[in-house]
Amino acid sequence: MIDFGIQSTEGHTELRDAVRKLCSDFGVDYWERYDRDHRFAREFYEAFAAAGWLGMMVPEEYGGGGAGISEVCAVMEEVASSGGALNACTTVHATVVGMAALVRHGSEELKRKYLPAMANGELYMSFGVTEPDAGTDTTRITTKALRTETGYVVNGRKTWNSGAQEASKILLLVRTDPYSPGEKTKGMSLLVADINAPSVTIQPIAKIGRNAVDSNDVYFDNHPVEASDLVGDEGLGFKYLLSGLNAERIILASESIGIGRWSLAAAVRYAKERQVFDRPIGQNQSVQHPLAVNYMKLVSAASIVARAAAMYDSGASQDVCGPLANTAKYLASEAAFQTADDAMQTHGGYAFAREFHIGRYWIESRLQRIAPVNNQMILNNVAERVLDLPRSY
Ligand SMILES: Cc1cc2nc3c(=O)[nH]c(=O)nc-3n(C[C@H](O)[C@H](O)[C@H](O)COP(=O)(O)OP(=O)(O)OC[C@H]3O[C@@H](n4cnc5c(N)ncnc54)[C@H](O)[C@@H]3O)c2cc1C
Repeated sequence: MIDFGIQSTEGHTELRDAVRKLCSDFGVDYWERYDRDHRFAREFYEAFAAAGWLGMMVPEEYGGGGAGISEVCAVMEEVASSGGALNACTTVHATVVGMAALVRHGSEELKRKYLPAMANGELYMSFGVTEPDAGTDTTRITTKALRTETGYVVNGRKTWNSGAQEASKILLLVRTDPYSPGEKTKGMSLLVADINAPSVTIQPIAKIGRNAVDSNDVYFDNHPVEASDLVGDEGLGFKYLLSGLNAERIILASESIGIGRWSLAAAVRYAKERQVFDRPIGQNQSVQHPLAVNYMKLVSAASIVARAAAMYDSGASQDVCGPLANTAKYLASEAAFQTADDAMQTHGGYAFAREFHIGRYWIESRLQRIAPVNNQMILNNVAERVLDLPRSY
């Protein structure tokens, strides 16, 4: 893979080399096969856990690595650029990033119960926020948890839950109090719930891509959850989710940079090799200029990701980090998709041959503009919070 020196964080050279080495055992053909076969990359997941990276954000006293966001960005960017794109990132992303709410807000008992097992890979947890009738407006979720003598009983439906078929637990956002227009974000709670139970039904969603990690509709029918599996305080679940968003956005942005790096390298290599009209197609300006623009967009997005990660690691408040985290997520995901799209054009008809892998990168980079948060919501946030324009939604 050609290296153009694009990087979302400075340094961490040895760490990046180690991730590249591990990922080289799981190359493009591995990910192509697992994507085509809709198969969870268990060997990759276990190797990643054994290297200590699954729990790298978990504090050391709970069996993790205690790493900062900059290191996590370095790791996830290398994973994305290794040939695995989002299939590889999402195989581990839920654990690397999804533990934030538990780490920050879980009781001591909850942390001791779950974090070490998540960090070493024994416990895989899915993440259940989205609902069919709520979508981006999370405050409209209707999955309810009613209090019982011993805890809660959950009824409702979640959708798009990644990895639910691999998971033994799901971090679930539920309503413990009804929606109230004046206090929309209150009354929601986070529960760690079992997912392998007769009261849970999991139905896979047939997807157009990123198929090494399953996505599912998950139904809860009088599903019991112990009181001790409540994360933090009842009613504050939404606030807990928000507190992890900046970190997640910065890490997602680094994954986009990795996707862009791979796509650009593939396009340049092909542009040099492919001969049409007795010369390499890369000799045409209409082929080389978009690739030059992609390089510049990726370099500039990567520098913002680095700034956002450094600011986060310096301990700046969530409010201060927000604009840069959002900017990083937006610019990196847009640059990655444009790069993958131009790589498609560069490959001509062969872009549609699975053996070139461009299609996987294209479709998975497209997903980064939609989920877990769409780029329109990022723009809404910047317009409102930075530019002080009226809230539009
Ligand atoms: C492959 C995949 C994996 C996923 N994994 C998970 C998971 O593990 N757990 C989980 O909980 N969820 C998961 N999701 C769900 C994902 O987070 C949601 O799809 C995403 O939040 C958007 O919600 P929606 O699809 O309902 O879009 P909608 O809310 O229906 O929005 C559709 C579009 O409308 C526009 N839009 C909506 N509201 C506004 C607004 N106010 N202003 C401007 N534009 C707006 C945006 O362009 C948006 O893309 C996953 C989704 C996918 C596709």
